[in-house]
Amino acid sequence: MVPCLVMLASGCSTEADPGEPRCADPLYGNGTCDLDTSCSYPDIDCFLTFDDQASAQTWWTSNAFAAGQPTAPASDPRFANVKAALDEGWTAYKATHDVGDLAAHEVQLVLINIPTMRLGAFVSPTAGRDKAALAVFVELPFLSVGLTQDEILSVMMHELEHAVGLHVIPAVTERTARFYSAPGTSEPFGGDQPDNAGIRSLYKEWTVRAGNVGYLGDTELAGLPLYGIGGSLGDAFAKIVAARAAATPAPCAASKARLDALETQVLNLRAPLDGSVNLASTAPTTIVDVLNQLTSECFMGVTGDAIHFTALALAIDEATLRGSLSAEVRTAVEGKAVIAGFYNWVALERTHMRDVQTRFQTLTGTAWGRLRYFSTEEAADDSSVSSMAALGLSGDLIGSALVKLEKIEAMCQPLVDGGQPIPYGENLIDTHHATCWRAGNARRFADRVAGAPRYTRPPLLPADDTRVFALPAEFVMN
Ligand SMILES: [Zn+2]
Repeated sequence: MVPCLVMLASGCSTEADPGEPRCADPLYGNGTCDLDTSCSYPDIDCFLTFDDQASAQTWWTSNAFAAGQPTAPASDPRFANVKAALDEGWTAYKATHDVGDLAAHEVQLVLINIPTMRLGAFVSPTAGRDKAALAVFVELPFLSVGLTQDEILSVMMHELEHAVGLHVIPAVTERTARFYSAPGTSEPFGGDQPDNAGIRSLYKEWTVRAGNVGYLGDTELAGLPLYGIGGSLGDAFAKIVAARAAATPAPCAASKARLDALETQVLNLRAPLDGSVNLASTAPTTIVDVLNQLTSECFMGVTGDAIHFTALALAIDEATLRGSLSAEVRTAVEGKAVIAGFYNWVALERTHMRDVQTRFQTLTGTAWGRLRYFSTEEAADDSSVSSMAALGLSGDLIGSALVKLEKIEAMCQPLVDGGQPIPYGENLIDTHHATCWRAGNARRFADRVAGAPRYTRPPLLPADDTRVFALPAEFVMN
């Protein structure tokens, strides 16, 4: 039906050089965004383009995603420099990628005037997430990180691939992801890998659990709910404890301070390169002790179980939540005091995460740490490498830019430069999982494309309902 999707894109179609005939597929430019055309470039109908910068800025301001954030005008002294990088980038991009009718359009720049960097640079879908806006959004603090002009350019190239590759459309995110394992110390290029349905299924199972308790599944964490690591239960627990401590400050002061100290200690243990924690075998004893004190001092006399309070904290219907839970979870939580219920629930989810990791090892013969997935992030990195190389610049500048943004240069750069193995990162929920690994990947990809920088976008995998790669809660891609 769509023969080009199962061929390498290089064999798919003619390049969109000026003078080349427009893609003949009747789906191209028919007024509806079609992801499956026989063209070598995305459907022009999948883009929101702007006539000028003011239109893009106005569109962003009125966009629900903008969340009331102020923009800086094009007259801002910082604008011209970034726009120059973006324009240079767009020219190079068009020389290394098929873009079709999009070539006639300008990519707009919108500066966002916020004091603290949230996403750095990003692109955005339209409100229905069914089109990509042809614009790059840059938060002003991003310009104070100390990136060189070439590194800023490399980030613009990354964002251009997010926009032109339609990475902000959820179905594209899903159909780009390829799950595989990297045996030994090998690091195959993700874009070349066939998608392994068994690995994808295990990833899905793990992600559902990690979405509840966060990405850390260590035995030593037992049932300690942790906030801010991607788990709804941990975030709900933090809200509940904060609310209780606000309502009854005196009896909660000591036990909450102890809990806060313990959580901070654990979160601070996360290793900068891979996000792992390494806890003492005595940690579970401490955790139980801290939570017991919380129960007896702060939550004394509180009725209602952890499911009740989770529904409250997450503003979801309690009966619906309760009905959606497995018998195993309900047995572990119902009828238990709230803190004990959370502990049991979280511990159970972590047990299942470790079980998935064991099954991965059985399936692939490699450790869980060798699980890999090619994502739209890696696709954007690879594309940036190709574009930079086409400009005669160092292809892997996207790597050094990312490492600088994450402030891990001293630790990471020697590994990249030495071609050393770099951990993939434990936070597999996040497509930005391990910056240093991405920098290493960019270096290897730069070596690969040296001399032949034209970028071939990996074809979208077939649409099917077992694709699991949910877009992160954050709508935009930095
Ligand atoms: Zn990105």
